Amino acid sequence: MRWLLRLLIAMLLLSVLGLGIFLGPAHLQIRNIAPPLPTEADLRALATVPGGPISIRVVQSSSQIGPSRTLGHTAVVIQWPDGRSFMIDAAMDRQASEDFGELVAKLSPNMEPVAFHGTTPELLGETINSIEGVGFTHLHIDHVQGVDAFCDARGQGARVYQTPWQAEEHNLHTKDSARQLESSCLEQLVLEGEGGLITMSKFPGLGIVALGGHTPGSTLFAVHVDGTLWLMSGDISNVKSNLLTNTDKGWLYSNIMVPENTARTEELRLWLAALDRQQNTEVIVAHDFAAALASGMLRLQTGYQ
Ligand SMILES: [Zn+2]
Repeated sequence: MRWLLRLLIAMLLLSVLGLGIFLGPAHLQIRNIAPPLPTEADLRALATVPGGPISIRVVQSSSQIGPSRTLGHTAVVIQWPDGRSFMIDAAMDRQASEDFGELVAKLSPNMEPVAFHGTTPELLGETINSIEGVGFTHLHIDHVQGVDAFCDARGQGARVYQTPWQAEEHNLHTKDSARQLESSCLEQLVLEGEGGLITMSKFPGLGIVALGGHTPGSTLFAVHVDGTLWLMSGDISNVKSNLLTNTDKGWLYSNIMVPENTARTEELRLWLAALDRQQNTEVIVAHDFAAALASGMLRLQTGYQ
């Protein structure tokens, strides 16, 4: 029987080695990405930029109800006084939403099937033609795949704005979406910056921050609208209450499923939670639409169907 034990140990070692070869580079890469964050004063100063945005709304393209939470897929649309808009994330079309939902249901039992509410152009109607800028909180399929539906409706004329990290640093989970973006209708523009708050004259009052942590190119978008500082944090946390209580995503998620820099995600949770506790400041967690609604976002959004 000793040979059987040896064989089992050898197989175990080989699978650990295989996993290391498969995931190791992604872990090493993301551990080296932690650009400096802006100060709170930098973020608050967005409120004073002349010609800043006048509205923000969230549309939810699909939702999946589970025992402890509802997983939503959303896009955020910010509008300027001259009618131009900027969209953050593109969600997914029906097929990709259902495929993604099946994967989620396999990994987390007792999730209901996905309820699909519409692609971003279906939910946004005419507004889609006003979108001149697009940004992604990160390049995972559930945030990027919908760019095809966006392009079918919008055609040429919009740009995607990316931090250097999001444009250049890819891993096993982001490279397909990066390729999809490259061949999309969006003209790619790489922002300059070493960290902190990145701004641009084309969309005054929009702040962009390289985060890392969840993916190499994870990015925060900040705007001050209607007296509130809105911070779109993507998937640094998947559930708002976990962000506020500094609860991580679990060892399996951050080490095997999605190679994360967990020291950085904790730093970011603490930073975002401290900001969220301030008056007139709201962190929008991409997959937690219920929390966005409960926070008063309902007052600001009109696209939910
Ligand atoms: Zn996601």
